[in-house]
Amino acid sequence: MGSSWKIGRFLDIDVFIHWSFPLIILYFLYISGAGSAATVALSVAFILLLFVCVTLHEYGHALAARGYGINTRSITLSPIGGVAQLESIPEKPRQELWVAIAGPLVNVAIAAVLIPFAFFAFPLSGFGEEIIGEALVPDIATLVWALGAVNISLVLFNLIPAFPMDGGRVLRALLAMKLGRLKATTWAVRIGQFFALLFAIYAIVSGGSPFLFIIAIFIYFAARSEERYVKIDHALSNRQIHEVTQEHFYSADQNATLQETLSNSVNQGEDDLLVTDEGRYIGVLRKRDLMQKVLREQTGSASVLSATLLQVPSLQLTDSAKVALKTMQKHRINVLPVMNSGEMVGVVYWRVLQQLLQYNNFQKSSTAAN
Ligand SMILES: [Zn+2]
Repeated sequence: MGSSWKIGRFLDIDVFIHWSFPLIILYFLYISGAGSAATVALSVAFILLLFVCVTLHEYGHALAARGYGINTRSITLSPIGGVAQLESIPEKPRQELWVAIAGPLVNVAIAAVLIPFAFFAFPLSGFGEEIIGEALVPDIATLVWALGAVNISLVLFNLIPAFPMDGGRVLRALLAMKLGRLKATTWAVRIGQFFALLFAIYAIVSGGSPFLFIIAIFIYFAARSEERYVKIDHALSNRQIHEVTQEHFYSADQNATLQETLSNSVNQGEDDLLVTDEGRYIGVLRKRDLMQKVLREQTGSASVLSATLLQVPSLQLTDSAKVALKTMQKHRINVLPVMNSGEMVGVVYWRVLQQLLQYNNFQKSSTAAN
């Protein structure tokens, strides 16, 4: 992740912050105006603690997913919130429901500790008093109360049914129990995009939050790409790998140089590439890793093996075609080798899976027209 910095690894999950993260601190300092050093320190402490709560929220999702055997690639914090990058979304509605709700439940738990604590430690009469001399307590009180309150608002905001926000996932899971995953997704996506539109209009009309506007755009496009994934997944059900396998393909020999591999792959219109040793599959080379090596690091004369090869499991001719989609999604690549009795017999391309979706849509619309 080039645009993010790793800040640590906890419970086997890397945590990153997006480069724009410090902007939120500057933004809040800007809107809160100038203050004493102590007020500024407390404001910064508040934002950092808020993001600790957001991180714990993401761990809620990640650990619930782990309970169902799904790994989390990373957790990234940005000014618009946190994202836990799960390797896949659970298909069973009940599992998706628990993974989605686990994040907000963490904030419920934090608020359930902070608010009673604040209630007894800092009765509301002291709330909001100015800092006078060394009497910092009223403002630490404000900090604790505000953190309690912000956790409640995180729960409420995340539970807005704007797919793919948490509330939208809960909605899809509930709908999927009745309608099946495909229809449930279509509904959840439409409702999500409706909310995205409302958020955007509100952000513009109120002349306020740039964050809400960015969230709206994010929701709109994330909803659309997830709908697409579910549609392809549906189009692939009842199909086997051999129906989507291409027998003719280009692969890079391990002894080739990175430079010739790049020119060949461009000529052949390939994206990610299989690397082979005399026809035997040994790994996948991502196009962006290849370009990085040749164009940025200028190491084109080195052999293909000097690049990072991903050890992605191969497909079997008799697998369900859905396995191809899942494996590509999990490893974020767009080509996979297909084996038959230990020998590589072809490849599956992401673009072919997409074409299948177009084919299905076309077939549906022409049946409807008849
Ligand atoms: Zn969440």
